[in-house]
Amino acid sequence: MSAAPGPLLGCDEPVQTRYDVALLDLDGVVYRGPHGIEHASDSVAAARAAGMRTMFVTNNAARSPQSVADHLTELEIPTEPDEVITAAQAAAALIAAGADAGTRVLVIGGSGLREAVLAEGLTLVDSADDRPTVVVQGLALTLGWKDLTEAVYAISAGASHLATNLDATLPTERGMALGNGSLVAAVVNATGVQPRSTGKPQPEIFHQAARRAGASRPIVVGDRLNTDLAGARAAGYPGLHVLTGVDQARELLRAIAAERPDLLAVDLRGLAQTHPAPEQDGQWWRCGVASARIDGKRLVLRTDDGERTLSERTEPGEHITLDELRAGCAAAWTASDAAGVPTVLPVGFPQLTVTTA
Ligand SMILES: [Mg+2]
Repeated sequence: MSAAPGPLLGCDEPVQTRYDVALLDLDGVVYRGPHGIEHASDSVAAARAAGMRTMFVTNNAARSPQSVADHLTELEIPTEPDEVITAAQAAAALIAAGADAGTRVLVIGGSGLREAVLAEGLTLVDSADDRPTVVVQGLALTLGWKDLTEAVYAISAGASHLATNLDATLPTERGMALGNGSLVAAVVNATGVQPRSTGKPQPEIFHQAARRAGASRPIVVGDRLNTDLAGARAAGYPGLHVLTGVDQARELLRAIAAERPDLLAVDLRGLAQTHPAPEQDGQWWRCGVASARIDGKRLVLRTDDGERTLSERTEPGEHITLDELRAGCAAAWTASDAAGVPTVLPVGFPQLTVTTA
């Protein structure tokens, strides 16, 4: 008798042989700004050697696939431009799919977006006076009032509005900067017209990436629940979450149903690993030697060393193992679903440090 599928999938062979194409996010997964993330290049090389193909999927619409590929190649992840799909390309492909002879596109964004639109054979215009039928908007750090106003003129005259992505923020070394979604919001505030969007968490970009790679068993790999993992769910693909970027143990334990991953790993070495699935045992969820259950707003963990309870009063930075996190997620997610709430764990639940041991 086989048990009903649990909250995490498990994978009893290496991920890189179970799935044929990895749809990898970039920032927080393979690099952090200009620097490669530890184990990323070796892990991608090992996955490719095992037969897994890679597609890099990015909401960044400012950089061309060539420049992304060059950056990855510099970081010792040799990459061809056709292994990179940007939100600019996804937007351009969507426009092309619905285009006719009268389609004219006003690009509000950078050279990456212009190139993507031109590569689809679409007609570009430079001004709202040229009667564009579509305004496509992506981030460029040079955009200003004149550009956004041009978009408002065109949309108010009847053009449709398409955003490459709706990320409110853009992580930088100095903190969170304005993302494309915030500039789109300025336009929407003036037009009252809600745009479509092709970037993550919309499924479009993942579907296009999988199609281009000819994937039969794709898996999404990401570090952000509300873009990568939500996009994986929306696309109908399994999602592997790595802990090298934005969302950490606390965010995983508190994840809402639409944003939960299927597999967890500390970093990209998880591609070469097998993944145990937590199994229910009474009120406990067990994973390896770790067990977890929810007690009100607290998470109880049990191993051979004994039992401990994590709550709002726990000091941030307490260490847990990856299997404890897996068991904890299974317990927290099923308890949340049973209670009919997004998450049973409180907003003040402490951040935890996940150890590989
Ligand atoms: Mg990321």
